[in-house]
Order: sequence, then structure tokens, then C-alpha cells
Amino acid sequence: MSILNLLLPAKCVVCAAGGKQLCDGCRESLPLLRSPLCERCGAPTVWPVARCRECSGRRLAFASARAAVEYDGGVRRFVAAWKERGLRGLASLAASVVEEVVPRPSAHQITFVPPDGDRSRKRGHHPPEWLARELGRRWQLPVTPLLGRTRPLPPQRGLARAERRRNVRGAFRASAARSRILLVDDVYTTGSTVAAAASALRAAGAARVDVVTFARAVR
Ligand SMILES: [Zn+2]
Ligand SMILES: [Zn+2]
Repeated sequence: MSILNLLLPAKCVVCAAGGKQLCDGCRESLPLLRSPLCERCGAPTVWPVARCRECSGRRLAFASARAAVEYDGGVRRFVAAWKERGLRGLASLAASVVEEVVPRPSAHQITFVPPDGDRSRKRGHHPPEWLARELGRRWQLPVTPLLGRTRPLPPQRGLARAERRRNVRGAFRASAARSRILLVDDVYTTGSTVAAAASALRAAGAARVDVVTFARAVR
């Protein structure tokens, strides 16, 4: 957190109203992702399904993915402030929303998508790790960094789904994992990143990997 954040009065990161980092109005209007959802990838559906249009036919190394909120305009501003300004209070806010919306997965251990060398060093702060630590405290689960990068990842932004998948394949390595792992990331976009990370965890011995993110892109 920069000294500026400590000195300036708090402002809502979504609407800029003074007082709190997330004002009550914006907190209440967060687009929560409630059931019915696709059992596998967590996409909102008309009725509960085992697989949906978005994930059917894809080999996904995770058993389920769940998110608290839709990655829409206000949530994008929230996540941008969290990533770029390193506002640590936002991790706790994000975790409280996840705790409210997502049932606690039956896992033995939490881990998180690791930072991508340069990009996170510049920010000096890694939102997925802070979210994992906040959730570990709330859900009483140990948090262990199990994942590393095998190579720097070219930016995913702007890539089509198939390209994203190619981009991240083999990008992670994992150290020995326990049998049921909860994998945490900040945003689920196409699921390619968490699928590649889950695949490394499975290769390192995890029998099951469930994914939880704060936000999820909805198509
Ligand atoms: Zn607001
Ligand atoms: Zn699905």
C-alpha cells in the first residue's frame, strides 16, 4: 500500500463516493452469481446442468469452478483498483463477498495462481494470494504456495479462447499437493489459466482441484 492510500480519505473504488473503499450502495448492487449454475464451470444457466455450452467438450482439470460476482463494469473497476493500487482492504472485502456467495469447498489445502514474474513485481502485490489468505482464515484451511511458472506468460488479454489455451499450456509446475486442493484466482475469464494450473496440481498428486475466484466473466 502506498503512503498516498494511507493519507487520502477513503473513496469508493467503484463510484468515487467518499467514506469507504466500497460504499454500501455499490456493495449492495454487486452482481452476485447465484444458482442455477453449470455444476462444472460455474456459468449462470437457466436450470442446473452438469456441463454447459461454455465448457462442454473441454477437458478441464478442475472438478468445479465458482465465483462470487459477475465481472461487469463496477466489478472491473473494483478489480483494477485492487490490482493496480494494491489496496489490501479490498482483498478482505472480496473474501467477504466470496464467503457470502460460494459454499465452502471440501478441500484440505488452499493454493493460488502464482504471480507472473515481472508484472506482479512491478505492482509489489499479488491479489490471488491475498484472497487465498483471507479465505484460508475464514474457511480454516492452510494456504500453501504450490504453483510456480515454467516461463513468463504473454498477456492473455485480447486472445481468443483457443489461443489462450495454447498460451497457458504447460505454463505451471506444482510441488507435491495433498489430495483435495482449493485453487484461488482473482478473475475467471475463459478458465484457461485455472485449468492449466489445476492440471499441474493433478500431475503433482492432487486427486481433486476445485476453483474459487472473486469474479467471473459471463458471456
Ligand atoms: Zn460506490
Ligand atoms: Zn459449464
